[in-house]
Amino acid sequence: MKKISLFFSASLLLIASSCVSVQVKDNKLSTTSTNKKPKNIILLIGDGMGLSQVSSSLFFNDQPSNFERFSTIGLIKTSSSSDVITDSAAGATAFSAGIKTYNGAIGMNKDTIPAPTLLEEVSKKGLSTGLIATSSIVHATPASFFAHVKKRRQYDDIAAFMPTSDVDFFAGGGQKFFNDRKDGRNLYSELEENGFQVYTDKLPTTLSEKKEAILLAENGMPKKIDGRGDFLPDATQLALKQLAQNKEGFFLMVEGSQIDWGGHSNDADYLIGELIDFDKTIGVALDFAKINEETLIIVTADHETGGFTLASDEGDYNKIKPTFSTGGHSSTMIPVFAKGPGAEHFKGIYENTEIYAKMKQLILE
Ligand code: MG
Ligand code: ZN
Repeated sequence: MKKISLFFSASLLLIASSCVSVQVKDNKLSTTSTNKKPKNIILLIGDGMGLSQVSSSLFFNDQPSNFERFSTIGLIKTSSSSDVITDSAAGATAFSAGIKTYNGAIGMNKDTIPAPTLLEEVSKKGLSTGLIATSSIVHATPASFFAHVKKRRQYDDIAAFMPTSDVDFFAGGGQKFFNDRKDGRNLYSELEENGFQVYTDKLPTTLSEKKEAILLAENGMPKKIDGRGDFLPDATQLALKQLAQNKEGFFLMVEGSQIDWGGHSNDADYLIGELIDFDKTIGVALDFAKINEETLIIVTADHETGGFTLASDEGDYNKIKPTFSTGGHSSTMIPVFAKGPGAEHFKGIYENTEIYAKMKQLILE
């Protein structure tokens, strides 16, 4: 009897200690990387992704959640200069340029002065840059990294920034803002004149020697539940292949744009489909960083959309009935997940503009 219990305690101890060693091994990266700086940054933005949206990856995914691969977590406050509840333009400009601005502003401060973006700043230092979205590439979130306009709906104006921008790789929707414009300009030719290879059919399987411009839908990309396939993880894979060729490093922003749209529509299936797709894309980034250890990964959101909750179904605590409280955005704090050199700086509760400040300090200073 004694022998058996001893055996049990010993094996329990063994299990416990093996858990501890796994923990230590996982934490080791962040401990040993305390004073290290990243060469590459991948910023993944789930538009409209609050904690309940993130939690969907635990309950509605047949794969393990990639969010659980992070051990450094923080929270951001997201109000804009004009409103308690931010929109995606002010939210993205906080990340791209480190400033609190008014709802609707793209890469501009509250006095409508263009603000330099991290993408532009790293490019000037010789790093490569990329933008990927499941919206059009001129939609508020990606636009805030390469364009400077007063109002987010100036899509033609935003697209006109792209040919001479500091972007080396982009993928998303938005063809009509490049080839069917009110001013008659053909931005496909302008992109080509500025060293881009333009793709409008599907993701290329091999990379050109040029910069890549990938526009696969007239406006936004199709919904995940309507057969978008693996565009987001695959485009991310492709971008990493291209950008990693630069020995100086790179900055890549990847947006799960339509998590927000599912929230606005109060459509749980739409939202969760987008969230799971974004989760898979996070996995692609984390797998890249496993091999390329000088890569810092940050996953966060501009704001929450829909007042989404994982409520019980009529009081049945074994059944989740996703529920919404608004067709708009909410002001809840937003989680930040970080992994890689410098990740420890993303702990705590801070303003959304700090994301820019921290990234800049780590990659440029
Ligand atoms: Mg967006
Ligand atoms: Zn929204």
